[in-house]
Amino acid sequence: MITIAVIGGGAAGMMAALEAASRGAAVTVFERQNRVGRKLSVTGNGRCNLTNMNAGAASYHGEAGGFAAPALKAFGPADTRAFFRNLGLLTVEERNGRVYPLSDTAGSVVDVLRYALEAAGVKLLTGYEVSGIRKQGGGFRILEKEGGMYAERVIVACGGMAGERFGGTVLGYRLLEGLGHTCTPLGCSLVQLRSDNPGCRSLKGIRADAAVTVSCCGELLASSAGEVQFTDYGLSGPAVFEISRAALSRPGTVVSLDLVRSVGEEELTEMMLQRSENTPQLTLGDVFLGTVQNRIGRVLVSAAGLKTSESLGGLSERTARRLAKLAKSFAFPITGDMGPANAQVTVGGIRTSEFFPDTMESRLCPGLYACGEVLDVDGDCGGYNLQWAWSSGFLAGKSASEV
Ligand SMILES: Cc1cc2nc3c(=O)[nH]c(=O)nc-3n(C[C@H](O)[C@H](O)[C@H](O)COP(=O)(O)OP(=O)(O)OC[C@H]3O[C@@H](n4cnc5c(N)ncnc54)[C@H](O)[C@@H]3O)c2cc1C
Repeated sequence: MITIAVIGGGAAGMMAALEAASRGAAVTVFERQNRVGRKLSVTGNGRCNLTNMNAGAASYHGEAGGFAAPALKAFGPADTRAFFRNLGLLTVEERNGRVYPLSDTAGSVVDVLRYALEAAGVKLLTGYEVSGIRKQGGGFRILEKEGGMYAERVIVACGGMAGERFGGTVLGYRLLEGLGHTCTPLGCSLVQLRSDNPGCRSLKGIRADAAVTVSCCGELLASSAGEVQFTDYGLSGPAVFEISRAALSRPGTVVSLDLVRSVGEEELTEMMLQRSENTPQLTLGDVFLGTVQNRIGRVLVSAAGLKTSESLGGLSERTARRLAKLAKSFAFPITGDMGPANAQVTVGGIRTSEFFPDTMESRLCPGLYACGEVLDVDGDCGGYNLQWAWSSGFLAGKSASEV
């Protein structure tokens, strides 16, 4: 019976442990927190967006493009749903291919995994932080302050640095570097963005529906649409998370919000001129009344260099057009992000060129495997990152247990 140590009891580690145990391996999971699946239990705002039916290699990013393809082929979104169905967890597909547990509770995803691990005879060591992995004989010595253990094979599934409060850490990178691997520069994705546009502070607390684009020196880098939240430091909300990777990909990016996406610039200009004509006694602060929230309207007027107290009567076509343009493309120069503590996913990680994509085994150190976010693979927003954890965890568990 092959002995396998899995370092990290998150999504990828639990999947790897289950797959290896189902193939007859003796598996021990080391988890530094006091329970497994801590981060998993808060995913998707507590609902756990556990996969996306559209997941394919194009939804994943990293230095070596296409690395995720074999794992996704071996264990794709349909396999994820079937796997959880087999554990007694029903799932539902919502808009844009996003899949959630029918229970709507991330905790139930963690529970079925935990019970399955127990049933499969996997040894779960919670509160055990692995401080090093040393080659010993034909296998590995797992170093831990309680003494550690010897294992023939090791699967590193320590996750990335994102979501520190829920276990995000750099420890996994250090463990793999200790065995000769290298790490790409680390950053954040699916994260709130900082901007020095003073409009952010004035609009703090407001949520708006917007079409969002990211550009740099005239080049369009990404787009999304949906809810945007204004905060005192910048921008947040699902539509901002979606484009955050592109917004942070180079200096000098600008995020533009179309705050009236159902109406074109021409029509909006007309509407404002009509309002000026029909209700000239109002002020410029009321020009957006009925199209965007009042506070947003007033901030747009100030951003155009106009006084909200000015009379609306006699609004010129030029000014109306300027205001319409601004509402259709309110620009926020991006100055950074809110850091790994707030990010959902890490950009970068251990170089995938140092691993075989069809087994997750190290090219540098036979018997060593890695899976999940510790590797330089990050997915788009919408269940893609957990799918990577399941796919790569499956492949690592399967390959590591092969005699
Ligand atoms: C708030 C939030 C919401 C998210 N929502 C979604 C979502 O809805 N859908 C989606 O697809 N993705 C989501 N993600 C991303 C997703 O959770 C991660 O990509 C995924 O959990 C990565 O799985 P993993 O197993 O590689 O790492 P993790 O789940 O982070 O697990 C790694 C585990 O290893 C342990 N560990 C680390 N170092 C050691 C050590 N030295 N010794 C022992 N144990 C160690 C950690 O404590 C941790 O439990 C979200 C992330 C966050 C932070």
